[in-house]
Amino acid sequence: MRQTLLPDLVLDAHGARSGLGITIEDGRIVEISPATDGERLPGRALAPGFVNDHSHAFQRGLRGTVERISPSSPEDDFWTWRERMYELACELTPESTREVSRRCYEEMLCAGYTGVTEFHYVHHCPDGIPYEDPSALAKAAALAAEDAGIRLLLLPVAYARGGVPRFRDASVEAFLRRVDTLREWSEGHPLVEVGLAAHSVRAVPRGWLEEIGGYARRDDLPVHIHADEQPREIEECLAEHGVRPVELLAQTGFLGPRTTIIHATHADAGELDLLSEHGASVCACPTTEGNLGDGFLPAGGILDRGIRLSVGSDSHVRIDPFEELREIETNARRLSGRRNVLVNEGETSPTPWLLRAGWDRGGLETGDTADLIEIDLSHPALVDVEAGDLPSALVFGAGSEVVVGAWVSGRRVYARGGKDG
Ligand SMILES: [Zn+2]
Repeated sequence: MRQTLLPDLVLDAHGARSGLGITIEDGRIVEISPATDGERLPGRALAPGFVNDHSHAFQRGLRGTVERISPSSPEDDFWTWRERMYELACELTPESTREVSRRCYEEMLCAGYTGVTEFHYVHHCPDGIPYEDPSALAKAAALAAEDAGIRLLLLPVAYARGGVPRFRDASVEAFLRRVDTLREWSEGHPLVEVGLAAHSVRAVPRGWLEEIGGYARRDDLPVHIHADEQPREIEECLAEHGVRPVELLAQTGFLGPRTTIIHATHADAGELDLLSEHGASVCACPTTEGNLGDGFLPAGGILDRGIRLSVGSDSHVRIDPFEELREIETNARRLSGRRNVLVNEGETSPTPWLLRAGWDRGGLETGDTADLIEIDLSHPALVDVEAGDLPSALVFGAGSEVVVGAWVSGRRVYARGGKDG
């Protein structure tokens, strides 16, 4: 089916253009050109959908419940939060995983995310015995994405030690066999792509990192890992391996152009150099990192080295891509006492760099998947904003409430007030 959408404005990272139609066929954008015939979207701008590059959907269930200290741990921190998260993880069933994930993904679509990377590490029955279908919980997350209509990159996560029994596999071979079968299954699910991940250098030994990195390289798959989120993790890595986490990843062949490091909060200059040399990416999760007291992204070092950046809502304390992007620059301003800090070479504003991190691209192009969001130009946060100022107004002055529609593969999967509203 071929259709043309006629918004008031088409937005890219630098500004907005009027008088354009976006023509979609078979889920892709086939033309962006002056047009008058098609479906009018009055008062709307069309922009690329945001990509939520790091999610643990089930942790949405903690929202509002962990914002208090308990008598047993008056010094609340990441590690005490993690105990609460483990309790929640132990309660999950395939049915509840699908339900909580669907609600989480629907909230993402409302907020402007049209794609999500699910970092999925709850695999087995609570006692650690695999389900009859060893991928039952991963498939529940995938089906939830289909229920909601969001695009999914599903990453089954390797976990060898620590955590709770249902996270762990007996061997890296058993883990990779599950990845194989999940990849075959996903072929019948067009919104679902499968990559893989290792949880962290805490949870996975050196030999597993080598095997997982090799598997990803051989099949050219995206591969993710948490690293440098907390100082204690770095101390433990130094004690066990004599090197810092990203150094260990480089030694084990885990780093490559399809590798994404989640957080990198405490990465030092040498580790950032390694990420740059290997073409690896960083995913920042500022609202979660702030909520957990992790620290700040070394955003200046990432920008200066040209390391590709993405964002994720991680624990889902908040689901709002605008806030994730704003936090990156706002933290840099608080730390430096300056304004407009994260400005890419050849640009005059942090906005284009931030939007490229959120969108995974700079704007809408012919050939892209038709994953779009509709922005309400009459919203009080945006009214009277000039077209040229719209990208910065979104990053610095707006939130997810300006998103009134979402399209994935050319299908409208969210419309505020109902499909026709
Ligand atoms: Zn995470």
